[in-house]
Amino acid sequence: MKDLSKIFGINVFNESKMKERLPRETYLALQKTIKDGKHLDINIANVVASSMKDWAIENGATHFTHWFQPMTGITAEKHDSFISPTDDGNIIMDFSGKELVKGESDASSFPSGGLRATFEARGYTAWDPTSYAFIKGKTLCIPTAFCSYGGEALDKKTPLLRSMEAINKQALRVVRLFGNTDVTSVKTTVGAEQEYFLVDQNMYEKRPDLIFTGRTLFGAPAPKGQEMDDHYYGTIKSRVQAFMDELNVELWKLGVFAKTEHNEAAPAQHELAPVFTTTNIATDQNQLTMELMQRIAKKHGMVCLLHEKPFEGVNGSGKHNNWSISTNTGKNLLDPGETPHENAQFLLFLCSVIKAVDDYQDMLRVSVTSAGNDHRLGANEAPPAIVSMFLGEEITEILEAIENDEGYDAKERVVMRVGVHILPKFPKDSTDRNRTSPFAFTGNKFEFRALGSTASISGPNVVLNTTVAESLKQFADELENATDFDECLHNLIKRTIKEHKRIIFSGNGYDNDWVLEAEKRGLLNLRTTPDCLPCYVAEKNIKLFTEHKVFTEPEMRARYEIHLDNYSKTINIEARTVVDMVKKDILPAVSEFVKNISDLVISKTTVIKDINCDYEKDIIKRLSELIKKTYDNVNQLNKELEITNSWTKSAQELADFYKDVIISKMDEIRVTVDSMEVLTDRNYWPYPSYADLLFGLV
Ligand code: ADP
Ligand code: MG
Repeated sequence: MKDLSKIFGINVFNESKMKERLPRETYLALQKTIKDGKHLDINIANVVASSMKDWAIENGATHFTHWFQPMTGITAEKHDSFISPTDDGNIIMDFSGKELVKGESDASSFPSGGLRATFEARGYTAWDPTSYAFIKGKTLCIPTAFCSYGGEALDKKTPLLRSMEAINKQALRVVRLFGNTDVTSVKTTVGAEQEYFLVDQNMYEKRPDLIFTGRTLFGAPAPKGQEMDDHYYGTIKSRVQAFMDELNVELWKLGVFAKTEHNEAAPAQHELAPVFTTTNIATDQNQLTMELMQRIAKKHGMVCLLHEKPFEGVNGSGKHNNWSISTNTGKNLLDPGETPHENAQFLLFLCSVIKAVDDYQDMLRVSVTSAGNDHRLGANEAPPAIVSMFLGEEITEILEAIENDEGYDAKERVVMRVGVHILPKFPKDSTDRNRTSPFAFTGNKFEFRALGSTASISGPNVVLNTTVAESLKQFADELENATDFDECLHNLIKRTIKEHKRIIFSGNGYDNDWVLEAEKRGLLNLRTTPDCLPCYVAEKNIKLFTEHKVFTEPEMRARYEIHLDNYSKTINIEARTVVDMVKKDILPAVSEFVKNISDLVISKTTVIKDINCDYEKDIIKRLSELIKKTYDNVNQLNKELEITNSWTKSAQELADFYKDVIISKMDEIRVTVDSMEVLTDRNYWPYPSYADLLFGLV
């Protein structure tokens, strides 16, 4: 391993570089702008830009770009050279404050959900000085927010920054009530663990489904799956190790502290966990991590699959969003602390999350939804589509004791009083035992496990920040008016537990009984993307996000449209790929095999008239039946796809049509195709098999 301290963050214009390179007044002025969220003065911007440019050029950069996160879910950049012509025909390397702070960008090629009127195709990007600029290749990347000219957010960054402001405002009110006057800002922190698959590039290139859709649309199970559990934490293969080593170094250079790496439960599956940081930075870092994973894998002759469910019957990939709230004085507000006073504050913050998750289950669910994640949620290795939370045995008991005015265990005689009694120490491990919960308390943070592996982590964190801000707002409203603070606090916590305990579930989330139990409790079970997308435009949710100034109503309606469109397009591409693969590769290959076996029967019977041909005849018969079924279904699928071409009903109805009609037809086709794969000579099968893909990396 290289000396980490020499390379860590060398490609980032971070705090220490700003301190070192900027004139003192500029540095202080910039810090103040960042802290107060005020507009950056152009004179300061000019100095920062010039210093940033010098640093970038010294480190090999020739271009700069405003780096942003449009609604496509991936990052976008438009490169400009630093070179400017001078009057005397020479060139200078130039980069102004104006270029740093604001960029113009043609917004017409990015999804806007109708926000961008056609007569105004321009959008602009604005520097987010709280996210560090960095060098990627030969380009200085400036993290920016992306808005329409009317100021509507067209990206994933803007609402995230707004939601951080919302929770900062409300959390500050609450910590003040506990006498913390030295705290000046409260931020949420995130560590996003990333799962992914690696497959051999040559095999990948032979699979149109992987190329066009990121997942396998066909594939009979390999003789060996993950039943032996011999992959999890197993020895890492040397080619994969070389990839991981290079990935780590590149991430370290970008200031991403990739901490652990291990094989995951499924064959060919791996995970990377970074050290947590402020949410907007964590979001940038996760995007960079995904980008680097894909680029570096290619260098090692592999392809990194980030799809949530690349292989049927094998674990899918998720992203665990570890989330907490911290003060600028370094206190984690979800850490129970040592004193009755700290415990009380902790319990209040804990309750703010419990209330938020219960009140806005629908928004949390919709924040992780996508066509890809629909395959994963509710499959047996991932949390179900029902949102619930796990708090661990000790905390659950304590909450029950508070709710019922009891001691928190049989031996304890004193009735639990918030702010008076000390909570017992929670053994950290015991809070992490339930891996089946979509939302688990893990000692000093929550782990939201329903996120899919591909999507930006922005959406779920926007929802977490805003919904918890709303709980905190209601709490602060009540507590600020209290005559007896302790009494009011105790009653508030007690009432919150009573009202929201239905969301707490400690049992096995993968169990079918839970589905029934959750229904009894009145919890939502929104199984698919078209089922949950209408949450975006539910009145209560529009009220929440507009009140906290995170989204405007048109922005929410636009996001609803973009997600619907995205879903329908994804399924459309998958269905067309199915038709293409079946007609051009699979049916011709199987037919040829059947023909050759038929020829064999003819040859055999010419040699010996009554020779036994049971095997051949059986295969011919079964495959011919399967060919017919597949062919009929593909023709039908084609017809159904034609219906979507001239769709006149709403986008919601189109998404529902894809979900109900197109997907079921694709599923039927998959069944017969996979049966044909099992019966067909492997030399005829046109694609690498599951066994090749999952176990073929040597
Ligand atoms: P382990 O999984 O071994 O128990 P940790 O619980 O320390 O490890 O961390 C798991 C993930 O949670 C890591 O990505 C880590 O950075 C992140 N994490 C730890 N503390 C916090 C926090 N306060 N806020 C956000 N994420 C955190
Ligand atoms: Mg985890």
